[in-house]
Amino acid sequence: MAQKRPFVTRDQLEAIVSRYPTPLYLYDEAGIRANVRRLLDAFAWNPGFREYFAVKATPNPALIAILQEYGCGVDCSSETELLLAEAMGMRDSDIMFSSNDTPLAEFAQAHRLGAIVNLDDLTHVDAFVRAIGGQPMPDTMSLRLNPGGDFACANGIFGSPEDAKFGLTEPQAIEAAVRLRDLGVRNLAVHALLASNTLTNDYYPALARLLFGLAVRIQREVGIHVPFVNLSGGVGVAYRPEEPDNDIVAIGEGVRRAYEEILVPAGMGDVAICTELGRFMLAPYGALVTRVIHEKHTYHDYLGVDACAANLMRPMLYDAYHHITVMGKEDAPATHAYDVTGMLCENSDRLASARALPETRVGDLLFVHDCGAHGHSMGYTYNGRLRSAEVLLCEDGSTRLIRRAETPADYFATLDVLPVGKRLKRARP
Ligand SMILES: *Cc1c(COP(=O)(O)O)cnc(C)c1O
Repeated sequence: MAQKRPFVTRDQLEAIVSRYPTPLYLYDEAGIRANVRRLLDAFAWNPGFREYFAVKATPNPALIAILQEYGCGVDCSSETELLLAEAMGMRDSDIMFSSNDTPLAEFAQAHRLGAIVNLDDLTHVDAFVRAIGGQPMPDTMSLRLNPGGDFACANGIFGSPEDAKFGLTEPQAIEAAVRLRDLGVRNLAVHALLASNTLTNDYYPALARLLFGLAVRIQREVGIHVPFVNLSGGVGVAYRPEEPDNDIVAIGEGVRRAYEEILVPAGMGDVAICTELGRFMLAPYGALVTRVIHEKHTYHDYLGVDACAANLMRPMLYDAYHHITVMGKEDAPATHAYDVTGMLCENSDRLASARALPETRVGDLLFVHDCGAHGHSMGYTYNGRLRSAEVLLCEDGSTRLIRRAETPADYFATLDVLPVGKRLKRARP
């Protein structure tokens, strides 16, 4: 069985948490950089390739700025995410706006920024026209496809698009393409996200075949130029040590073969490939760090930690597995089975159930793996629990606070009462 190793040693981590108290999120700059380079290499055969990082996965400007250095744009789906992109100096083709059930004001905001708007429904053509109130249509737009049925390849089913709320059917996509062409849109891209956290090198290539087919139809039948095909997100990471990791080089190669079979013969060898990866970009390079504060033995053996579902919701929400390393006991045999719980008044508040771990004591530090995407960003403030700080472990071994921890002042900021007799502590810089 493959082992999962933390990207820090115990001594390093103890030094870090003496500065930034637990619980905290820690990110690994070196790992992030190496991974984005691998992605770019895997798609280097496509000169127009661009990754638009899915902001919702990890909306932290310091992390997104690292990806930005490699030419990545961002994929936004809400007003606030657009504001974040704008604040980071992104504009125009730096921003993909892939939203659904979109408030009209957000279409207008995306249009103001010059973002590439990816429409989720046929009726959104008219909604968009209304939203921008008579201004000229953008040159370039995009359509989100939902092919229905099950989405499968030789090795199994990736997902059931038919039951997903997203996207247009293919006939609707063709109709929308005609409407957009007649409204003056000159370039129309195609997009689909048909599965989540796929652990196979076949998902992107299969999706590419489907979207390349639609791209050829749109360019030939509708006579509108297809500038890029957006494979969106959905490439997964191995959360469990026994799972095989995706091979991004093989994935890029699979997409290239589909490209040469379908687009090149159709005279569409100028089409760029785009991705909107979130999880694949950052999940393995972020960890939730938490300390054991209680040990409890009733009908189960519990380790009570100082983090909870407010810090990491995925186990509660999806029964998701996150591997846990007890720092300093990396090589000790996993002789015990623990329920690792937080302090929310919810029995489902646990980071792991019946998890095989070495014998663990109050005071031990736990490194919860693969929290770098859809981790901190899913946090909430149930039970008045506040979201933790985020810290970047830089390539040179130094650390940088990239988001301070929330304080009660943040919690009270949306209320018109203050806690009696308590001066709200300002967050430390
Ligand atoms: C969530 C999402 C992504 C990113 O998904 P990952 O699973 O993190 O790769 C990309 N595009 C859209 C439209 C999304 O909603």
